[in-house]
Amino acid sequence: MKYEEFYRRSIEQPEAFWAEQAQRIHWHTPPQQILDVSRLPFRRWFVGGTTNLCYNAIDRHLEARGGQLALVAISTETGITRELSYRELYREVNTFAAVLASLGVGTGDRVVIYLPNIAEAVFAMLACARIGAIHSVVFGGFAAHNLALRIEDAEPKLVIAADAGMRGGKVIPYKPLVDAALEESTFKPPHVLIVDRGLDPQMTRVAGRDLDYASLRGSYEGAEVPVTWLESNEPSYLLYTSGTTGRPKGIQRDVGGHAVAMAMSITCIFDIAPGQVMFATSDVGWAVGHSYNVYAPLIGGATSLLYEGTPINPDPGIWWQLCERYGVHSMFSSPTAIRMLKKQDASWLKKYDLSRLKWLFVAGEPLDEPTAQWITEGLGVPVIDNYWQTETGWPALTLMPGLDLKPVKFGSPGLPSPGYRLKVIDEVTGEELPPHQKGVLVFEPPLPPGCLTTVWRDDERYVSSYFSHFNELLYSSLDWAIRDENGYTTILGRTDDVINVAGHRLGTREIEESVSTHPACAEAAVVGVHDDLKGQVPVVFATLKQGVAEQPGVVAMGMQQRVVQQLGGLARPAHVYVVNALPKTRSGKLLRRSLQALVQHTDPGDLSTLDDPNALEEVRRALERGP
Ligand code: ATP
Ligand code: MG
Repeated sequence: MKYEEFYRRSIEQPEAFWAEQAQRIHWHTPPQQILDVSRLPFRRWFVGGTTNLCYNAIDRHLEARGGQLALVAISTETGITRELSYRELYREVNTFAAVLASLGVGTGDRVVIYLPNIAEAVFAMLACARIGAIHSVVFGGFAAHNLALRIEDAEPKLVIAADAGMRGGKVIPYKPLVDAALEESTFKPPHVLIVDRGLDPQMTRVAGRDLDYASLRGSYEGAEVPVTWLESNEPSYLLYTSGTTGRPKGIQRDVGGHAVAMAMSITCIFDIAPGQVMFATSDVGWAVGHSYNVYAPLIGGATSLLYEGTPINPDPGIWWQLCERYGVHSMFSSPTAIRMLKKQDASWLKKYDLSRLKWLFVAGEPLDEPTAQWITEGLGVPVIDNYWQTETGWPALTLMPGLDLKPVKFGSPGLPSPGYRLKVIDEVTGEELPPHQKGVLVFEPPLPPGCLTTVWRDDERYVSSYFSHFNELLYSSLDWAIRDENGYTTILGRTDDVINVAGHRLGTREIEESVSTHPACAEAAVVGVHDDLKGQVPVVFATLKQGVAEQPGVVAMGMQQRVVQQLGGLARPAHVYVVNALPKTRSGKLLRRSLQALVQHTDPGDLSTLDDPNALEEVRRALERGP
């Protein structure tokens, strides 16, 4: 079926459309009602149907593909690769589920998972899903305080943690952070289950509280744990947003809608058929990791690659080497990772046989044109940008090569996905804008299956964060966008970050894109800074490519000129600062508000998800030196 027809049906006959899509998964009891919108902006999909995510991800495939690889967990940090067939994954997940049950974890209980990108993270998530426990994965790189906040919010029966992770050859102990988090947290779970990788010989244990997974696994190996069937709208998991615009929000996902969205998107968007190989380079701690390392590829009967390490270790060809070795069909990465590779020699992209690689998907941040071009030419496969949020759980804007491939337009993540009733509206009047006018990206009700059901234990924050901007039914993405007459939509930045110069609104993205066309530019961040005359003016922070010989002052002037040439004098950056690093969240998103606060000497707000505090220090010094 063609995209247009598919999309139109999802909008004109949502219930019939999603009833059909629901047949992609196994239901223990079929839904009695496809959609309940009696309590908007809350909605319920597949009401009364019971199912289980773990059953759909594993059990259902055992007969037809029990011997096929389900999960390949590669660590270039430890040098260990684990290959598990569906049958082996079934065994590990059942064992893990038995261990959880033995610790008193049951349906509706929360389990905080604080693990690196290793197979046990997948076992733990699916084991929770099997018994109806609600997992809350906390990205392994987060500090004790972040972990403490999430433990307090989730009140888990159990925390699962590793002794340590590794990055760039360095061991990063996790356990001391767990201890510190539990010290800080007012809520104290009875047990911490430790996956001891043997990386940190100094690890200490708290008697009675801390348990060793390996020894419990020994006691329960081979156990089979029956699936707990859940009503479609029960919570399946919690996951926090990246915290780019403020305090992270605890996104709650359902069961049935999530399963259906995964099954549909892995086929129709990511073009993965059962038996094919998907390689998402994300960490399981992010939304992409949840959806496209774990749930979607497994629900789709595919092989999922999980990767612990950096894209340039042991060398910048490692990802392509893996693509060759496992015959990867669809790859999914981020602009940040591709920009990291772009700093390396392009010949690494040509070293391996990529004849089986069909698509490279990227998401998470705007994909700038120079990077898109570089990777498209280097790999010789289409690069498909897709736009989504932790909230949506799967792409809202994308192309659907699993149906038919539409032309890729650099700079745009494409067209609305099925079920997304997308509009670009005027920020003040709420009126829908014609093509080529900038406004706020919103979705009309109902949000499709798979999107958040609420903010964990905070219905009020759900409503006030997303539904109280124009009217109480419209979901605001809080992103600023523009559409063309064919529906291709471009994200221009966060609504919080829009720069208002003398009454004209400029998206940070437009200026960043323009700066990044400068040949010396590696990456740019633009913020609006208060100006007495114009209200606000843009200020640019840029990192340069390696080996740039020009003086930073000359480069800065060149960047300024480009912006004026391309966007006009209104967009002229008041200052361009050349810096060594830009402040980002752990998930790789530019923390513009921290830059803005530094320039304006204002409060930056919640910085708990900041990746590298040194980057901010660097910026502070650059500001002191002056542009
Ligand atoms: P918070 O909501 O806590 O401020 P966050 O919005 O960064 O954090 P995520 O859910 O990880 O948390 O990120 C979603 C956001 O990332 C989107 O709203 C959008 O701003 C940006 N984004 C994602 N994909 C793309 C893309 N393909 N192009 C441009 N921007 C994107
Ligand atoms: Mg957000």
